[in-house]
Amino acid sequence: MSLLPIRTHGDPVLSTPTQEIKNIDGRIAALAQSMLETMYAAPGVGLAANQIGVSQRIFVYDDGNGPGVVINPQIIEKSGEYHFEEGCLSVPGHSWEIMRPDKVHLIGFDLDGNELDIEADQYLGRIFQHETDHLDGFLLIDRLDPPELQQKVKKMLRKQHIEIDSASKESQRNIFGK
Ligand code: ZN
Repeated sequence: MSLLPIRTHGDPVLSTPTQEIKNIDGRIAALAQSMLETMYAAPGVGLAANQIGVSQRIFVYDDGNGPGVVINPQIIEKSGEYHFEEGCLSVPGHSWEIMRPDKVHLIGFDLDGNELDIEADQYLGRIFQHETDHLDGFLLIDRLDPPELQQKVKKMLRKQHIEIDSASKESQRNIFGK
């Protein structure tokens, strides 16, 4: 297994809804293992497959109670309100206080193909919403409110992304001595 590079904002794979997984096989088990290793190394508490460039509907997490894997997750119920300072491995160096529903009812499948049915609130509920959002093609910045703040942050990140992009092109030029 190997550590995989984490994609960052501006990468189209993060804004594309992922594909449902049809067969839960050894390939998916290996993917989940690599994702967990990448998540722990980051370190993070959750990682969605498209964050490592794989457009498949699976995420891994660990809220402090051991590793978990959810395949084809769906949130079928949410309620309440919960304010939480949220960050993301794909938007490194930033965090924002974001209000989301508190309690969620998540369904999906585990690596053995068994149905999962989990009710979670607060921290774990937040992880589930954040990771399911990734798989639907949304980032935490899409949940910023009011819209003016969201626009301001997106503009700031676009600028940062362009700077990172031109910096890496610059270092490539240096490698090739041009
Ligand atoms: Zn994230």
